[in-house]
Amino acid sequence: MANNEKVVTRFAPSPTGFMHVGSARTALYAWLLAKKNNGTFILRIEDTDKEREVAGSIEHIKKSLKWLSLNWDEGPDIGGPSAPYIQSERLEIYKKYANILIEKGYAYADPYTAEEIENFKKKSEEEKKPFLYREYRPENPPPWDGSKPLRFKVPELKRTEWKDLVWGELSAGIEALDDFVLIKSDGFPTYNFAHIVDDIEMGVTHIVRGQEFIASTPKFLSVYEALEITPPNFVTVPPIMGADGKRKLGKRDGAKDILDYENEGYLPETMVNFLAFLGFNPGGEKEIYTKEELAKVFDLNKIQKSGAQWNDDKLDWMNREHIKLLPEEERNEKIFDRLQKNPEISKSEKIKDRDYVSKIYPIIFDRISKWSDIDTMISAGELSYFFEKPTLEKEKIVWKTQTQENAKENLEKVLGIFESEITNYESCKEKIIQHATEVGKGEVLWPLRYALSGKEKSPDPLTLISVLGIAESKERVAKAIQILTP
Ligand code: GLU
Repeated sequence: MANNEKVVTRFAPSPTGFMHVGSARTALYAWLLAKKNNGTFILRIEDTDKEREVAGSIEHIKKSLKWLSLNWDEGPDIGGPSAPYIQSERLEIYKKYANILIEKGYAYADPYTAEEIENFKKKSEEEKKPFLYREYRPENPPPWDGSKPLRFKVPELKRTEWKDLVWGELSAGIEALDDFVLIKSDGFPTYNFAHIVDDIEMGVTHIVRGQEFIASTPKFLSVYEALEITPPNFVTVPPIMGADGKRKLGKRDGAKDILDYENEGYLPETMVNFLAFLGFNPGGEKEIYTKEELAKVFDLNKIQKSGAQWNDDKLDWMNREHIKLLPEEERNEKIFDRLQKNPEISKSEKIKDRDYVSKIYPIIFDRISKWSDIDTMISAGELSYFFEKPTLEKEKIVWKTQTQENAKENLEKVLGIFESEITNYESCKEKIIQHATEVGKGEVLWPLRYALSGKEKSPDPLTLISVLGIAESKERVAKAIQILTP
């Protein structure tokens, strides 16, 4: 590539379903490479396989890219110099290139029926040879009228050698070359042909994609050769492996739709950061990056060849770090929203009281790594006591080294403190601590905490009082005393 050439990358998904995290990472790398070089990032929809197309996928892909803020400089909706960017709308362009190949003698109409091809395959199988269509190439093919598939004719059978910017030098023998279909009998081009034409027409300088395309690269290169066009740079990104590092990431280990992560309450900033690190590492200690910082440090030489391992704990850790970077107000707003939407507590009167709920923000913030952890906390009963009175079990009010009588006495003492200090949290706190220091921490703080929360695990009682308020705390302690009274 000439030094002054503008970098043009593209993300070219087929609309065959949701957008898998692996595709999101491919898109991200193509985006980063373009941004790093002040280049152009193109979105192109490869919808030439009408049978595999899933309704709604194009919208879904666009929504996913927008959520990640991977905005395209050319593509659907916004157009650009090579519009249209949806392959099914570019059929004339493929035909033009098909005719160039026919004229050059590198394409022909495939005269065989499906049955005949099946028989060739059987024959190859019997001879224990891999099936290669070119071995059955017809001598006098009919002119191409569109009713038959148009096939490529390999210009020269030779070993292919090429360079991949991640994998280095690669090569393949002649068995990798074959007469593949360029245009199907339904008039649509194959992926193998259409993407080459589009990458040429759109001036793509770097093709970023997964390793599943390495095996077909010799075929692609033979088309560039037939067209006498220099191929672009190949950037093959590593596979993403599941948590065990052995298998490719599957559904079980988080190969989800990228938008599932939005629903679970991960930040798009986290996903970008996390996906970037799946196969790339800028080096150094720093792990938390914004998209713009990543674009600065992105470097093809630092993309690894081997599989990159998915790690949910790391994702959660990273999300927490990104949550910490959010302005406090935005973070609190997110927590407030999530609480409002939770069906288990949305009926409580208190949930609507912003001042009251704001006292819980720090407690929640300390314990979550993603927004859906708030729902998990609620279902585990870890927040319910802020919104409704707890149900108490008598035995649990009593700390292990004390008697029921002693627990009751200690709570009565606290009740007295509440009554005398009903408006003053600070002195209430001081007196409770003093009392606990005198007669035993566990003996005072355990019954008090349990009386307030009804849980064996919860924030400490003084924090609970600071949220619930002294009047409410007093009622809960009085209730516990009543339960302990024979
Ligand atoms: N449409 C292909 C796919 O979704 C894209 C491959 C490429 O980037 O060339 O797998």
